Amino acid sequence: MTDLDAAETLVASTDVTGRLTLSSLVKDFGTGSRAVDGIHLNIEPGEFVTLLGPSGCGKTTTLRMIAGFESPTSGSVDLDGVDMISVPPNKRPMSMVFQSYALFPHMSVRENVAYGLRLRREPAAQRDHDVDLALTSMNLVAMADRAPNQLSGGQQQRVALARAMVMKPKVLLFDEPLSNLDAKLREQMRLEIRRLQRRLGITSVYVTHDQAEAMAMSDRVVVMNKGRIEQAAPPDEIYRKPASVFVADFIGRANFLPVTVVGSSTDGMVDVDVLGQRVAVPHHLDAPGSDSPVLLVRPESIRLQPAPDGQTIAGRTGRVLATVFYGEHVEFEVEMEHGTLLAVVSDPELSALPAEDDLVSVGFSPSKVWLLPA
Ligand code: ATP
Repeated sequence: MTDLDAAETLVASTDVTGRLTLSSLVKDFGTGSRAVDGIHLNIEPGEFVTLLGPSGCGKTTTLRMIAGFESPTSGSVDLDGVDMISVPPNKRPMSMVFQSYALFPHMSVRENVAYGLRLRREPAAQRDHDVDLALTSMNLVAMADRAPNQLSGGQQQRVALARAMVMKPKVLLFDEPLSNLDAKLREQMRLEIRRLQRRLGITSVYVTHDQAEAMAMSDRVVVMNKGRIEQAAPPDEIYRKPASVFVADFIGRANFLPVTVVGSSTDGMVDVDVLGQRVAVPHHLDAPGSDSPVLLVRPESIRLQPAPDGQTIAGRTGRVLATVFYGEHVEFEVEMEHGTLLAVVSDPELSALPAEDDLVSVGFSPSKVWLLPA
């Protein structure tokens, strides 16, 4: 039996529902500003949703309210239409995976995984069967009798995952589970968790401040700021069509070019004057009529061409301030009239690249930019 088959067998008997609804959720610790300030979020059965945002934006508090470790000041958490607020954490059909693994040091791997089922008074035969499947699914059979301190960080996190899964939860909650692992292992575990979650179809809510992790794993990324949701959308939409300058700036790297809107919107496109030329660009609904909108251009969408000798075009010509070689890509800082631009060239042909102090003509592909209200 493969690891994934084992995992699937384990949860096959579960009624995989898990529709999670957060309504007007508020947490006020009485510190002057609300940690969570009125969150509405519907999470579909089987969906993998990541809460992402800067430190202190309320991700963990939201997760802890879903788990029941924190009581909301107001609002509701429903699971499949059942109000969870009055249900204690250990009675909610949810399992949480923590950053610190939170394993019992005096118990073996097997005992750690079996612990929740023991508390639930699962009959021994069923318990052993499920623990075996969970250990197989996480490739832990060979180390079932070891103590947690005889395992690497990655292996300990696998045990934590097995322990969460064995409970056959309707919802899996993850609180920055990979932050204690080194970069390579983190990437590997990221894919593994995602693969497992897809196969099992367990609704998952994942908290991280690592945007690459959020983008790589999620069906939907929920970007939070100061206790509120700025945007909840699939990763590509978050990246290409951010709802605000905050989201655009938080996810990936961004250039914001000043523009003048010169037409009215047709089919989601509007004419703007930018970099000394007039182009039609896609836009956020509120952008064309807003005060001083800005054009989001990602560094990889910028095109740099050598400016013919001594010839500068107002607004479009810049001077290369710095070039940084990273192997698979080169970054350029270009000084423009309005400020500094960041451009990235992937898989570069080194001989054809501009050098520091060169004059360059700056362009971009209009379909890849996004006009935003400032
Ligand atoms: P991080 O990425 O740093 O963990 P976060 O987005 O998860 O941040 P939270 O831990 O949810 O943020 O905290 C949100 C706000 O609530 C912060 O300002 C934090 O200081 C505050 N806060 C969290 N827990 C408590 C508490 N028990 N008592 C008082 N304030 C708290």
